[in-house]
Amino acid sequence: MPVTIDGQRLWGRIEAMARLGATPKGGVCRLALDDNDIGVHRQLADIAKRRGFRLLMDDVGNLFIRREGSDPSLPPIVSGSHSDSQPTGGRFDGIFGVLAAFESLEAIDDADIVTHHALECVIWNNEEGSRFVPGCMGSGVYAGVKPLDMAKATRDRDGISMGEAITQLWSCFPDAERRELGTPFAALLEAHIEQGPLLESGGEVLGVVTGMQGMRRFLIEVIGKEDHSGTTPRGLRQDALVDAIAIINALHALFWDGDDAIRFTIGHFELFPNAWSVVPGRVTFGVDFRYSDVETLKNLGDRVAPLAAEAAAHCRVSVNEVVNEPPVLFEGPVFEAIEAAVRSSGQPWRHIYSGAGHDCRFFPQRCPTGMLFIPCEKGISHNEAENAEPEHVAAGAQAIAESLLILDKQLP
Ligand SMILES: [Zn+2]
Repeated sequence: MPVTIDGQRLWGRIEAMARLGATPKGGVCRLALDDNDIGVHRQLADIAKRRGFRLLMDDVGNLFIRREGSDPSLPPIVSGSHSDSQPTGGRFDGIFGVLAAFESLEAIDDADIVTHHALECVIWNNEEGSRFVPGCMGSGVYAGVKPLDMAKATRDRDGISMGEAITQLWSCFPDAERRELGTPFAALLEAHIEQGPLLESGGEVLGVVTGMQGMRRFLIEVIGKEDHSGTTPRGLRQDALVDAIAIINALHALFWDGDDAIRFTIGHFELFPNAWSVVPGRVTFGVDFRYSDVETLKNLGDRVAPLAAEAAAHCRVSVNEVVNEPPVLFEGPVFEAIEAAVRSSGQPWRHIYSGAGHDCRFFPQRCPTGMLFIPCEKGISHNEAENAEPEHVAAGAQAIAESLLILDKQLP
């Protein structure tokens, strides 16, 4: 192919972005639209402007960096990911996909290649959901599966709304053009670290992603009664923690499958008032359930609420389903273009199924969509120790650049 990405330039950018929000343990804390996250947007926008690329921003704070094509009537071919991180996140999650796309645009620009379609690098806003809950907000709103009003009204722990943070982002880019939410893409590609151990353990450098697990999330609230811990006999208490433990044990048993293929996690748990001398009056916790099969997602997920009510002996229980996303299947032109680019790379590769959710999950119904993985060390992610090899980062970006060119030729 007539394009070669610059692995050193790309690695330099990985390192530069890792300084924005760097933590002492070598990771990053870059929450959506905080100063460091906006710093990522600024740095890439500065380079983009020097190259004559255009900046477009939408109402939910997604940034698109655009290299024009020869036919302005065609929708753009878009690649990218997110720049925010978990509070103790790594240097590659999300930002690798953004920089692989950006490097692809630069390499194609350096080679003076004229494409028919405009090529765009996207930074989706608030993928991690650690500052503004829930995650995948920018991509979900753009794709029309999440309401803009809800996203903008969400507040962080300091009371700042997503809407206010987006206004601040806009103020940093007065010359950005407006991109209407939902403007069609010709295709969408996302590169990401695997966040699991399969590629590394198999010795593969590239993974062509075949699909993504579905996910259901439930917020469970157990409402008991606050009492004095010194004076109230245990037999008379409505202890919300005791019932929460019973519910959690029942759920753990329900979701245990012999193959250990079902992903069931309670990673969010809060106890009120959380004081030594008070019987807990209220507990809230979150159930995160992921699987590849629609039937199982339905059957097991639908049992959460009745089982929780049944397991609580003394307290009232309410169960709210906050996420219900079906599994995703990748096929068609983007999947094939990525596979062709990966095959021609000479790198060891495999097909791989994604256990994690990613921004591009909302797009297969809207446009041809696909994903590419590179290995991360020991499969560790959402952790400051997250690591990836420069050669793998470069190989991933090269495959994205080539995929973009293949798609530009093939797509109408
Ligand atoms: Zn990510």
